[in-house]
Amino acid sequence: MNKEEINHFIEHNLINFSVNSTGWNDLIRNLLYEFAVAGWNMDHHVFGKEKFGELRCYTYSEDEILNTKLKKIKSKYSELSVRTCEICGEEGKMRTIGSWQTTLCLNHFLEQQPVIEIDDKQNIKRNNETVLNIKNIVKAEIEYDLQRLWLFINKTESVYFSWQEPNYYLLLRTIPLSLFPKDRQREISTLFQHLNDCEICGYKAMFQRNCLRCHHEPWNDSGYFIQDYGEQSNYIKECQMDIFIDEDDYEKYFKHDCSFEKSPDHQILFTSDDLIEYKKLLF
Ligand SMILES: [Zn+2]
Ligand SMILES: [Zn+2]
Repeated sequence: MNKEEINHFIEHNLINFSVNSTGWNDLIRNLLYEFAVAGWNMDHHVFGKEKFGELRCYTYSEDEILNTKLKKIKSKYSELSVRTCEICGEEGKMRTIGSWQTTLCLNHFLEQQPVIEIDDKQNIKRNNETVLNIKNIVKAEIEYDLQRLWLFINKTESVYFSWQEPNYYLLLRTIPLSLFPKDRQREISTLFQHLNDCEICGYKAMFQRNCLRCHHEPWNDSGYFIQDYGEQSNYIKECQMDIFIDEDDYEKYFKHDCSFEKSPDHQILFTSDDLIEYKKLLF
């Protein structure tokens, strides 16, 4: 088994892996190399693909001893893949984009996420591309919970927006109310008239029992809050630390969201010692 043979085997089989980009190529190369070293017959193909953001290799051997080795190699590289950006190979993590699971680094994650912007000419843009102009909207429809919005440019053609995109509520506030069905107009204006300060994230985004910015529930004296946190300040502290740690990079994604005003007297309740203790519990 010489080096050249192995290299040929690796490059030849790299194309048998159906993946979204080139970020995992080194992982696949290493996997193939380990296959060869383990005793895989290099005349036979090795196949694999990306599934739910993970590298899966489906090739196995009838030889039980060899197969045990292959299994170990395959699970090693599956585990590595969910920590490696599919696009660039940098450190990544599993993300959900729309309804897709994919493993991406922070930059490539943010690049793929839609961000709504409205410029001073009333153009609505998404990721820097104009999708429509507010003046051209003929009709607007909104889901019962106000979290999804369709803006029509004629009778049938519409553009869809969701609360999961930064600046969604800014957009909702900007669309002339008269474009919505009569019965929904009051609900929309009620929402913006009844926003309260959220003690957790510090935005004026608390509507009924949910913050539209950080999605936390406000503290209340009901059973489970008292049982789990004892008192209000502990609850707020913990939620604020979750936001600060930003495990899912949600805050980084919403960094440029201008949907809500910042409350002027918002207070951060946790200290750096609290954070150290909390991280010990989490990780
Ligand atoms: Zn990347
Ligand atoms: Zn909040």
